[in-house]
Amino acid sequence: PIPYRRNQDVVIVGGGQSALSVAYFLRRTSLSVVILDSGHEPGGAWVHGWDSLRLFSPGQWSSLPGWGMPPVEGYPTRDDIVSYLAQYENRYGFSIERPVSVAKLTRSDDGFVVHTDGGIWHARAVVSATGTWSQPYIPAYPNHSVYAGVQVHSAHYRNAAPFAGKRVLVVGGGNSGAQILAEVSRVADTTWVTPTDPVFLPDDVDGRVLFERATAKWKAQQEGRILPDPPGGLGDVVMVESVKAARDRGALNAVRPFRQFTDRGVIWQDGSHTDFDAVIWCTGFRPALGHLKPLGILDVDGRVALSGTQSVDVPGLWLVGYGEWTGFASATLVGGMRYARATALEVAQALEGQQPPRS
Ligand code: FAD
Repeated sequence: PIPYRRNQDVVIVGGGQSALSVAYFLRRTSLSVVILDSGHEPGGAWVHGWDSLRLFSPGQWSSLPGWGMPPVEGYPTRDDIVSYLAQYENRYGFSIERPVSVAKLTRSDDGFVVHTDGGIWHARAVVSATGTWSQPYIPAYPNHSVYAGVQVHSAHYRNAAPFAGKRVLVVGGGNSGAQILAEVSRVADTTWVTPTDPVFLPDDVDGRVLFERATAKWKAQQEGRILPDPPGGLGDVVMVESVKAARDRGALNAVRPFRQFTDRGVIWQDGSHTDFDAVIWCTGFRPALGHLKPLGILDVDGRVALSGTQSVDVPGLWLVGYGEWTGFASATLVGGMRYARATALEVAQALEGQQPPRS
């Protein structure tokens, strides 16, 4: 028999910001909740951020529900966020098991069996909040396998030191690409490749405008209106100090993608060759949903059909925080909040309706 502790109303898979936000709203219910997180310490993906990573919006715009981020000077750093998330989970005393990795989820008569590297849990409902960090994405390029130089994805990039004096190709035009290019270009000979011209926000605009756009979209959706997509999205580059400085040095010029790799570099569309010692891939991530494979609900893009945040095909399973497909700006601290609240409400409605509330 499954020990009592391992028999929960709700299991939240993952222990980053999305999980904490859902757990916060579930505190208002009578449900038993456990968070199973494969991380060794609090902080989710932020623990793996590069050393100089800066958020693209101020602290009050980078907060979870209930208890805001303590004030910091300028834009919060990676360590500011890790420390905030650690304090946040202590403050609310969530039940968190760490490190526990969920390998797979299967259905049972009254919910789910959660198979982990530390044994089995049982849950009436599951909220998946595993983020994307463990699934770095690298686009396909012809002859990629012959390239013999160094390659690193932004998921594992820490700082510019290993690239000093090298010829470095940075691929990808979002905030990661811009921030990493900005610092590597100070010590290396860099080339920046983006599929289209990167979109830079005006200097006096920061990540707040991206949240405002997301809110406008969400409101329109709630009211059944269709809002024409405003220009830009969460991928627009925020001109944090390091990126401004790179622009002033003339280091922010992007070129269009190359045709193929060679063993020492790339061949451009016009047939010319350039050698590179290293390639840094800032090409994004895919949702980390391997644990849902046994349910047979992953589509060709590795996503799940949702109604709101609940799985259409497997009622009792919710997904939060993965990207625009789980809610506008839902992969961000502030943007994820409304989806966390809605998810907690639905979970409570689904489960509390079926049993008398605990005293
Ligand atoms: P994660 O933080 O990835 O947490 C998921 C957790 O689940 C991890 O602890 C992981 O170990 C665990 N896990 C994964 N798989 C399993 C499993 N099978 N079993 C158990 N546990 C598992 N966001 C903002 O809000 N504001 C910003 O200003 C901002 N700026 C950014 C700037 C840059 C340059 C970058 C790259 C990102 C920025 N982000 C920002 C986005 C933010 O980093 C992520 O979107 C966020 O970490 C996602 O949170 P999450 O909780 O959904 O996932």
